[in-house]
Amino acid sequence: MQKKSAIHSKRCWIENQLQEATIFFENGKITEIVKGSSSTFDSFNSNNIIDFGTALVMSGAMDVHVHVNEPGRTEWEGFDTATQAAAVGGITTIVDMPLNSSPVTTSATAFKQKLDATNGKLHVNCGFYGGLVPDNVGELEGLIEAGVLGIKAFLTHSGIPDFPNVGRKELEEAMPIIAKYQIPLLAHCELSDETVKTDWNKIAAGNYQAYLQSRPKRWENEAVKLMIELCEKYTCPVHIVHVSSAEALQEIAAAKAKGLPITAETCAHYLYFNAETIPNGNTLFKCAPPIRNRANNEQLKEALKSGILDFITSDHSPAPPSIKELESGNLQKAWGGISSLQYVFSAAWTSLKNTLTIEEFIPLFTSHPAKFLGMEDQKGTLQKGMDADFTIWSPEESFEVLQKDNRHRHSISPYIGERLFGKVKSTYVGGVEVFNYQTGLKKGFGKRILNK
Ligand SMILES: [Zn+2]
Repeated sequence: MQKKSAIHSKRCWIENQLQEATIFFENGKITEIVKGSSSTFDSFNSNNIIDFGTALVMSGAMDVHVHVNEPGRTEWEGFDTATQAAAVGGITTIVDMPLNSSPVTTSATAFKQKLDATNGKLHVNCGFYGGLVPDNVGELEGLIEAGVLGIKAFLTHSGIPDFPNVGRKELEEAMPIIAKYQIPLLAHCELSDETVKTDWNKIAAGNYQAYLQSRPKRWENEAVKLMIELCEKYTCPVHIVHVSSAEALQEIAAAKAKGLPITAETCAHYLYFNAETIPNGNTLFKCAPPIRNRANNEQLKEALKSGILDFITSDHSPAPPSIKELESGNLQKAWGGISSLQYVFSAAWTSLKNTLTIEEFIPLFTSHPAKFLGMEDQKGTLQKGMDADFTIWSPEESFEVLQKDNRHRHSISPYIGERLFGKVKSTYVGGVEVFNYQTGLKKGFGKRILNK
């Protein structure tokens, strides 16, 4: 049992506006919200109210696309380190992808191993996706019954041999099953073809433009079209992960206008970085689909404003320095994935603060991902009865990303050395302050999130 506690701020995100309020919570849930100044309280010992001044208090930020890699590849990233990084970065809930752990989460048995691997290691809340690969359609119901929040599939090579991609045939088998449960099918949308003339020598030598050209927008656009077609055919909720091609936006907008159950995300790195300024031979920026040119990325920002894109994730997908080929700078051999969970929230705000108002920005990390997971009755807004997960931050304050403050397993990330706005002051998970920028981390208060 937790005793009754309260936090106060002049800027709480309540009912879609910033307002002064005191938020009371007990046993992990918000019990009462009193708007206005806290000076009126005398029945409740005012010493128990923690005053955050003008720092912005909102429902905890959620990052629903994270590769934790445990069990099996814990040397890449594990639950202990990933969820510490999340807490420091103001993220109160993550959702783990079915790869690159070993085993991959493609059966209920593997999911059990995944859940066992989290014991004692969760410092923020964590949900899980299962995976669709060729020949595991028979496992999907078992995975869903065991509590995964969605099913992830690749339409091109995933980079992990034990998680092969699917094609139309497997999708057509799986989507009626997934539709029955009305959970999302998350799709990595790239349909590779042989017509691209790829200069592998240049890519191996670290030429970023050659890498960018090897994965054209067309691949993404075609895959998005296929997923929309199947979404309509099976009325299966489809989620397009990490949209990087702005050319796919119109298709997504049209599908939404038709009322299809489709959602889409982009990642902070597609907003923060631009191909024009990515140095050759720096593999930290390698991801798939690739980071594209500035003009393209500006359209992604506009799509977050207009609602074509629903929210932002990190797609945190780290690897050790050797697998990332940091020394060689070889963009062909390097693992594709960006280490970013700790920085996603502040990097996204830094990228968007001149395009979006704060009122437009906050839902991208709170109510929108909560609704996507079907958890809007528990998370995403500050209301009585909701989980006491809070992110408390200062949008106006900036900080330099320092290697020494990194909590990921490996302190390598393209964000290191950058100056980001949106300094996280405090992170609460289930009513417990798990991170405070002055006093540090309090570990072990994260919960596993399983679908009801
Ligand atoms: Zn991913």
